[in-house]
Amino acid sequence: MASKKYHNNLIINMPSDVKYIINTLISHGYEAYSVGGCVRDSILGKTPKDWDITTSATPTEIKSLFSRTIDTGIKHGTVTVMIKNTGYEVTTYRIDGTYRDGRHPAQVTFTDSLREDLRRRDFTINAMAYNDITGIVDCFGGMIDLKLKVIRCVGNPLERFSEDALRMLRAVRFSASLDFSLETSTMEAIISLAPSISKVSRERIQAELEKLLMSHLPQRAALLYDTGLMQMIFKENSFFSHTLSSEASLLSAALMRSPREHYIRWAVFASYVSANNIFKSLKFDNATVKICGNLIKHKSLPLPLKEPELKRCIVRIGRDIFGKYYLPYRKVLEYENLKHLEAISSMYNDIVQRGDCLSIKELKINGSDLAAIGIEPGRKMGDILNYLFDSVLDDHTKNNRETLIELAKNYT
Ligand code: ATP
Ligand code: MG
Repeated sequence: MASKKYHNNLIINMPSDVKYIINTLISHGYEAYSVGGCVRDSILGKTPKDWDITTSATPTEIKSLFSRTIDTGIKHGTVTVMIKNTGYEVTTYRIDGTYRDGRHPAQVTFTDSLREDLRRRDFTINAMAYNDITGIVDCFGGMIDLKLKVIRCVGNPLERFSEDALRMLRAVRFSASLDFSLETSTMEAIISLAPSISKVSRERIQAELEKLLMSHLPQRAALLYDTGLMQMIFKENSFFSHTLSSEASLLSAALMRSPREHYIRWAVFASYVSANNIFKSLKFDNATVKICGNLIKHKSLPLPLKEPELKRCIVRIGRDIFGKYYLPYRKVLEYENLKHLEAISSMYNDIVQRGDCLSIKELKINGSDLAAIGIEPGRKMGDILNYLFDSVLDDHTKNNRETLIELAKNYT
């Protein structure tokens, strides 16, 4: 591709720790650059999340130059250099060997060529390096693609996706996080290789989908359908039908109006994607399985505008979950019914602000109070506590010791 390899007039403002690491390596005769996402984001005017450094020095050489290092991925050439409390990944220039199974490179080989190191990277926009002496090193047209706003593979996309199928999902994810489109041959290669996504571990798929859903354009999830990735990711547990394109647009519209919150976006995702056990199949943590499961299970729960009934709904879902995740989730699903949900929100806020009793533990009476009036611990006491709780849900003014003891005495 005809493109300028160096862009010496562009200055990237690197953090002083990164400059220090690069300068230390250079002053000992090695090459060193910041590389990948941090260069991409800096050129786009965004603040990079982290700074990766690529160098001609071997891991042993890197370790000899810095006082505190961690062997993060030493086999792959990565050493973490600690500066104060921050770690920076410093990786030796490398070539990834052939990928046996579309998952792991069989071996990695160190190289002294920056160009070779950049060539192994997934997309042109992720394959640029920078230091203050050389400026931007751009062997594969990354700057042009940043201007064109496209995700394009370095080299032949069919080969690159065959080496590592996860890159297909990364392409969709970067399209969402950067608002870029997929370059045509890159898109076509994904369409033809989508079935190979099944070689990728569920954990890696989960991590990429998480970044996609938590991006500023989660509606790009529609690309998962266009490319066939969605159908393949949930091949084992799907009940996809001929209405896939309407499913894609419903999901994308719902994600677009979802607050940027993990549980809410995932519950929305699972509410539209026709697949079972999405959270288990993606090996999610217990909290996600539990909280999203709770939201989805109650997605059609009638929410009455009467305090005692509403309180029973809150008790069922959980006081905090109800306000933090459940109501916003319902608002995403029922955006045409917001008036009612707003009224429910304000009733919920009143209930919480008053500190109304929403669990047996919050009754102004306990087991020993009941024992003192002759009620033995056991089944009967449990029944009485439930009865008292129920009475308090009906009328919160009953939650005081005298009234509750009276009620308990009269319980038959
Ligand atoms: P983010 O902002 O999400 O961290 P990033 O570009 O830094 O984006 P990372 O996953 O942190 O992405 O990877 C760092 C760099 O390593 C990428 O920019 C890319 O050059 C390279 N890279 C990462 N994963 C792959 C992969 N699967 N195949 C090829 N190159 C990869
Ligand atoms: Mg990164």
